Amino acid sequence: ADTPVPVMGRQRVTAKGKDVPEAVEAFKSLGSRYEMSSLLLGNLEKSGYHEPTGIQSHGIPILLEGRDLVAISPTGTGKTLSYLLPIVSALGAPASTSKQDQGSGVRAVILAPTRELAHQIHNECLKLAQGRKWRIVLFSKATANSLNDKNVRDKVDIIISTPLRLVAAIQSGTVELKNVRHLVLDEADRMLDSEFLPQIQEILAGCSHSDVQKAVFSATLPAGAEKIAMDMLRNPIRLVVGLKDT
Ligand code: ADP
Ligand code: MG
Repeated sequence: ADTPVPVMGRQRVTAKGKDVPEAVEAFKSLGSRYEMSSLLLGNLEKSGYHEPTGIQSHGIPILLEGRDLVAISPTGTGKTLSYLLPIVSALGAPASTSKQDQGSGVRAVILAPTRELAHQIHNECLKLAQGRKWRIVLFSKATANSLNDKNVRDKVDIIISTPLRLVAAIQSGTVELKNVRHLVLDEADRMLDSEFLPQIQEILAGCSHSDVQKAVFSATLPAGAEKIAMDMLRNPIRLVVGLKDT
């Protein structure tokens, strides 16, 4: 699949849920309101991201405040950054440098239905995380094998994977999800269909921490899939972005 063409402006956002955090008008407000690091804000500028899209200005504060989220926003509206920025911002020290008692190992998992998409997300995440030594792993057969080594495994901060690949690693014991605090389903209309759902449920079960923030992103979400998503989430906020046609 090609990278979607950016869609800026002309967006109408509706939010449903309890105590919806206020949207940010500009990325720099994330510095003053949430103490987001200047490294991350600088990386946004370097990427040519000067102002947030609709899903970003509403979704990023929601995720930074630790809330669960269902976000429905058309292709090209920047959903990827909406979940990557809050995750990277919450990571803190890279697992490779943190002390044992700070709890190391994978703290965020991002799932996408195809390897191609996972690859795109990985690239965007590497760009965003430039300048800190986080280990951001695109799951493949080869990386899964390298994780047989516990020393390597404990230094991974973020995993980006297709469901099948991650389930295989869970089953062979090469990955541990007990420290995961952030779980994202991208292209959730596909992730919650009958092909992927059993795998998603197995991954959810592996994320055994009592406080796992979950976010579901999609361009469209049929009612059946949305019901399944809502049942997985805790006190979620639902954001819907529509493109204005004028
Ligand atoms: P979606 O997942 O909603 O289809 P993407 O996250 O793939 O959209 O983003 C679509 C394109 O828009 C990408 O090329 C991305 O680099 C670009 N983009 C994302 N956010 C911004 C922004 N705030 N400003 C400019 N371009 C952006
Ligand atoms: Mg996308």
